[in-house]
Amino acid sequence: MKENTSRKGGGAASPCAACKLLRRRCAQDCVFAPYFPADEPQKFANVHKVFGASNVNKMLQELPVHQRGDAVSSMVYEANARVRDPVYGCVGAISSLQQQIDVLQTQLAIAQAEVVHMRMRQTASSISNNDHHHHHHHHHNEHHSASPNSSSKLITPHSTKSLLALDMVVDQASMGASLWSC
Ligand SMILES: [Zn+2]
Repeated sequence: MKENTSRKGGGAASPCAACKLLRRRCAQDCVFAPYFPADEPQKFANVHKVFGASNVNKMLQELPVHQRGDAVSSMVYEANARVRDPVYGCVGAISSLQQQIDVLQTQLAIAQAEVVHMRMRQTASSISNNDHHHHHHHHHNEHHSASPNSSSKLITPHSTKSLLALDMVVDQASMGASLWSC
C-alpha cells in the first residue's frame, strides 16, 4: 500500500510548486500544496528565496488552517516586493503610496480653495449683474484673466510622475530613515 503511493506517477497528482522546486516528494498532506499549485512556480520561488522554505513551512504549521491562505498571500506579496526592491521591500510600496496621498491631498486642498474662490467670485458677479446687466461681458473678461491657471501648474510636475507609478517603483531618494522607525 505504502509502496504504491510512494511510486512515481502511481496515479498521484504532480507535485506542488514547492515540492517541485525543492525536489522532494509531494506528500498527500503537503502543507504547501494547497497554496502553491504547480502552475504558479514563481509564487513559491520568490517566497523560498526571501523567507526560506523551512521557515515558510514552520509558519504555516503554526497557523490554523483557515489563516494559512492569508498568511501565504502576505508572504507572497512581501517576497515579491523584496525581490523587486531588495532594500526597502514592502516599505517602498508603502512610502510611494504615502507620497501619492500627500500629492493628492495637496491637489484636493488646492481644488477646494479654487471652489471657494469661484463661489466668492460668482456671488460677487451676480450681485453686480443685478446692478448693471450691460457690464456683464466686461466683468466676465476681467474675471477670466484674473483666474490663474498657475494654481494647477504648481502641482503637476511633481504629481504626474508618482501618480503614474502605481507600481511598486520606489523613489529611493525620498525615503527617509524614519520609515524604519516603526
Ligand atoms: Zn508539495
